Amino acid sequence: MTDCIFCKIIAGEIPSAKVYEDDEVFAFLDITQVTKGHTLVIPKKHVKDIFEYDPELASTVFSRIPKIAKAIQKSIPGVKGMNILNNNGEVAYQSVFHSHIHLIPRYQKDEGFKLHFEDHSDTYTQDEFQQLAASIKQTIESGD
Ligand code: AMP
Ligand code: ZN
Repeated sequence: MTDCIFCKIIAGEIPSAKVYEDDEVFAFLDITQVTKGHTLVIPKKHVKDIFEYDPELASTVFSRIPKIAKAIQKSIPGVKGMNILNNNGEVAYQSVFHSHIHLIPRYQKDEGFKLHFEDHSDTYTQDEFQQLAASIKQTIESGD
């Protein structure tokens, strides 16, 4: 895609701090460095978000994650954990619309990165909860 910043990074038209590349996947340091070593893993094929993946592309991209995550942990002292994050859609805070996986190494609990899950389970009856799961399951099984 010609006006995509990540496609331009892959093509070498925009500089990046590359950490990994093969025929299908590219990884580079995120310019914001939420924590030291914050890395983005992207498919070379331009897909907007997870809703445009097929199983083969998912397998290609996600299979590279452990290798890159382990390399970050090994090469930077003090990495005690890692958040792996993938934002899809503006509503989910996606700002670059070439799919990417954030690898955010963690050194301590309070370091400018927070994930906060509110518990809304009391807004569902048990029936509604089960129906919700059944509806998703049925859609998966119907192959849609
Ligand atoms: P998201 O908000 O999930 O779409 O994340 C997009 C990420 O891309 C942000 O964390 C940005 O810091 C990062 N980013 C944008 N432009 C560049 C660039 N030229 N090089 C490296 N990272 C970038
Ligand atoms: Zn792109």
